[in-house]
Parts: sequence; structure tokens; C-alpha cells
Amino acid sequence: MIIILLGAPGAGKGTQSEFLERRLGVVHISSGDLLRDHIRRGTELGKVAEGYMNNSLLVPDDLVIDMIVDRLAEPDAAKGVLLDGFPRTLPQCKALDNALHGQRKRVDQALYINVARDMLVDRLSGRWTCPEGHVYHEKFNPPKHDRICDIDGKELFQRPDDTREKAEKRLAVYFEQTLPIIGYYRDKGILCEIDGERPIEQVTEDLLNCLK
Ligand code: AMP
Repeated sequence: MIIILLGAPGAGKGTQSEFLERRLGVVHISSGDLLRDHIRRGTELGKVAEGYMNNSLLVPDDLVIDMIVDRLAEPDAAKGVLLDGFPRTLPQCKALDNALHGQRKRVDQALYINVARDMLVDRLSGRWTCPEGHVYHEKFNPPKHDRICDIDGKELFQRPDDTREKAEKRLAVYFEQTLPIIGYYRDKGILCEIDGERPIEQVTEDLLNCLK
């Protein structure tokens, strides 16, 4: 099963991925987490990507596509995949379809978590992240202990692109460059849109219902 999770930064893709990964037994592949890992390891890709990410811009398609195609070729991806943060542009959608076609696979379902723009800025600017990718919000989804991840006890940090100013820029990029891909999956008849402003557990429930 290949599922893609669509929605603006701050829509709750990371939070929901944690639940869906456990419930469905698929592998969660987040393009943002992979890129941050490249930056931490100081790879060539990481060095190039960092400049774009610090400026709230998308990393060029060819770099991200190669990174995801390589990740999809790893053995654990055979048990099913939940893609989060990729694709983000129409060329990425088409490259994904081509890569999957070569393996006689396809995207089975596109889940779209819809949240109004003004709420997204508030969500991003109060967000705290664990080095393993688990996400919290100081108001809407706080950890049990201040700045400590509930799941693995690691210290939470604020992503450098989660400041108010950078969040607004990332959202502008999303509405301009990524929103058009919703239509791509709607036209294919595999889009399921859900209201991302409902409580976290209800959003999970709605997402699971889409997959029934
Ligand atoms: P995210 O963790 O999904 O919010 O991604 C953080 C940043 O990584 C984005 O603002 C982009 O700079 C970059 N990025 C992540 N995924 C992609 C993608 N599919 N295409 C281009 N850039 C990406």
C-alpha cells in the first residue's frame, strides 16, 4: 500500500503519521526528516538543501526526487509506505508515478488534511520537535513533561524554520507551489479530503475511514 499525506505545513501530517504508521504497519517516509538528517550528517545533499530550507524555499525537484526514489528502493519500503511532505510539486507527482510504474506499483490513496491558513501560522509557531521526528505543540498538543518527548524521552527543540516569519513564508510557498497537486490526485479519483481542524483523535479516525 502506498499512501501519500497531503496538507500545508502545520496541518498535522507529522502527528498523524505517527498514529497511521503504528495502526497500518507501513513505513513513514518524511522528505523533511530525510533532508534534516542529511544536514546533520553534513552530506553534499544536506549542504545544498540547507540553504533552501533556511530560506523557507523548496529544495530543487531533482534532488528531492532522487532522495525519495532511493529511499523507496530500501527493503523496508516493501511492506507499504506513508509518504509525508513528498510530493510537493507537479513534477514530483509525475516523477513518483513514473518511479512506481517501473516497479508495477502506484499511489493507492492520497489523504488531504485541510486546515485554514490563519490557524496554520499559530500551529507552526508553537511547535516543538523531537530529534526522532515526533511533534508537539505548546498549546494544542503539549508533551507530558516540558520539552521532553513522551515517546523516547529525548529533548525537544524548535525547528529554525518554525518562527512566525519563516512559517508565513513556507505557507506562501505551499499555497503557490504545492496546493495545485491536490487537483492532480482528485482527477485520479484517489483523493480523500478531511477536516484537519477537528481534535487529533478524530482526524486520525477520519483518515483511517478514508482507507477502509
Ligand atoms: P517539512 O519538514 O515537510 O516541513 O519540510 C521542511 C523543508 O524541507 C521544506 O520547507 C523544504 O525546504 C524542504 N522539503 C521537504 N520536502 C520537500 C519536497 N518534497 N520538495 C522540496 N523541498 C522539500
